[in-house]
Amino acid sequence: MLELRNTYYAGLPSAIQKKWKAHLSLREFNVGDHLPLDTGGGVICFPITCVAMIGIRAAELPSTFLRFSGHTAVIGATKIFHVEKAAIEATICCGGYAFVMPAKVVSQYLADASVSADWNSRYLSLLVEEVSISAHCARSHNSIQRIARVLLEAFDNLPGGSEVTLTQRKLSDLIGVRRETVGSELIRLHRMGIVSSGKGKIKIEQRDNLSKMACDCYRHSTQSRMTALDLWKTIPWQID
Ligand SMILES: [Zn+2]
Repeated sequence: MLELRNTYYAGLPSAIQKKWKAHLSLREFNVGDHLPLDTGGGVICFPITCVAMIGIRAAELPSTFLRFSGHTAVIGATKIFHVEKAAIEATICCGGYAFVMPAKVVSQYLADASVSADWNSRYLSLLVEEVSISAHCARSHNSIQRIARVLLEAFDNLPGGSEVTLTQRKLSDLIGVRRETVGSELIRLHRMGIVSSGKGKIKIEQRDNLSKMACDCYRHSTQSRMTALDLWKTIPWQID
């Protein structure tokens, strides 16, 4: 029943859960590993304890950080929804376990093409919304607001009380500010007792106070993710 710890798996109709179970394989991933999303016709991952940083990349351009995905996410759904122009990359930032399943298993249970087209467009509009929030955030909010937002999003994906493995360099890459700025803001948060950090790991000590510092994008992206989960829960899977 370990697979039910993943919100997306738990959100499937029980008949689908039973059918897919035979195709799941539990794999351990370490910090820095890339999830093998493109292996053998594509796989989708249901994280249980690991957390991945998701980047989106168009054509030959460098990837842009989109979100963290842990036990409240599914990774590789772009394979199901045929979002071919945008490649998703997933790099582990907190080691742990995930269930991996061939994407073709999912396709077998998807309804006919006309229904799929509707789901594709709804999924795509959510993806566009997420990219827009990221772009707006980078342009409009200061470094402490963005650091607070990113840390909250990372921790929302972790099993309770864990630390996230994020170096200052990585955090500055994700947010797009100088590493020195990230360093001095983390020291400030540390002195205020809001986070503790060391050896490339960060832990939130006072969540409420960190929330007060984060920009509104945190709330917007959380809502967007809840809408995505609701969408997943209403996919008309074909069960014969
Ligand atoms: Zn923002």
